[in-house]
Amino acid sequence: MNTSRELRTANRTALVQALFFDGPVTRAQLGASSGLSQASVSTVISELVAEGVVTEVGALRSDGGRPRQLLRIAPDHAYVVGVDVGEHSVRATLHDLSMKVLAAADVPLPDGPVVADVVRAIRTLTSVTMSDAAVPSGSVLGVGIGVPGIVTHEPEPFVHSQVIGWDGVPLRRLLDLGLPVAVGNGTRAMGQAELWFGAGRGARNVVFAKLDYGVSASSAADRGSERLPTLRTCEWGHTSVSVDGPRCRCGTHGCLETYVGADAIARRYARARGKRIRGGSRKAIATLVSEAPEDPTAAGLIEEMAGYLGVGIANLVNLFQPDRVVLGGWVGLELGPALLPELRRVLASRTLRQPLARTELRLAELRTHAETTGAATLQVERFLALGARPVPG
Ligand SMILES: [Zn+2]
Repeated sequence: MNTSRELRTANRTALVQALFFDGPVTRAQLGASSGLSQASVSTVISELVAEGVVTEVGALRSDGGRPRQLLRIAPDHAYVVGVDVGEHSVRATLHDLSMKVLAAADVPLPDGPVVADVVRAIRTLTSVTMSDAAVPSGSVLGVGIGVPGIVTHEPEPFVHSQVIGWDGVPLRRLLDLGLPVAVGNGTRAMGQAELWFGAGRGARNVVFAKLDYGVSASSAADRGSERLPTLRTCEWGHTSVSVDGPRCRCGTHGCLETYVGADAIARRYARARGKRIRGGSRKAIATLVSEAPEDPTAAGLIEEMAGYLGVGIANLVNLFQPDRVVLGGWVGLELGPALLPELRRVLASRTLRQPLARTELRLAELRTHAETTGAATLQVERFLALGARPVPG
């Protein structure tokens, strides 16, 4: 730490993060959790209250002494938009700084959408959610966008998503929203939201496994005391679980996604029962789950899927040795309760004993708006990293 200015910035950042994740808290609690002196805490908090970043929300009464004010980040200090680019639709939510959803909207995508369809949808949703929530554009921190595939950031965000045909798309530049834009992998974003507010809280080393139309995972390696650990994404759905398996849309064979992706499950179920279920993959998976307790065909398919998914998760556990695996995505949540018992049995027989003993498997906790809330955290993480100073474009 070179200068007192840098020190003040670091103190401010530490307190903003403590208020965001732990608030409401007292000045004394902030001192204890940050290790800063009460004088430093008071100086920074006065500055944050004067800027409207922090607000007092009542007092904690204690025997004899003065009541101690409880502080939190002011929810209406700023707003953030989260956008999730899915394979069939683009969805958005607008949040205040308590992450409460103030507006939500979605736009369906045509089959085989081109980049221009997605750009148009994101522009529309950003302006619709801002006007529905009636927030002035000057108070919007920015837009966080979760996309499928790999995102590289030098010199600007480029999206590489082989399965939807995006090859180095400069999404932020194409959007030209006039607001700060953070682009990141959608699974990393959802994993971050689970880590911050959901089933990953309190764990050190979390793997988030997402089952959707596509299958992917993200991991936060050994976060230690870091409040904003970096999550890495892995194209888990395109790791092979069978040498001679079915052809995958990525061009290879036997990928995990060809067994446990939404469309693959619907196809396998149709084949097993001899006829297709009308209404698409969502309807097919809901039917599979509801019929499994009575119908041996459905129960057999769930057992088979637990086998493939169990091998996939065992690979994640052996590779990353997490203390928690969180299973999410709409397919993961829909099938989760039916899958978990068999999944745990498969894991026990397919994972090395030591990493298995220190890991637990849980279902994701964020349900409604999980994807867009995750996307919004991509923008909030910058706000927190900068100690509540304006986020550059
Ligand atoms: Zn594949």
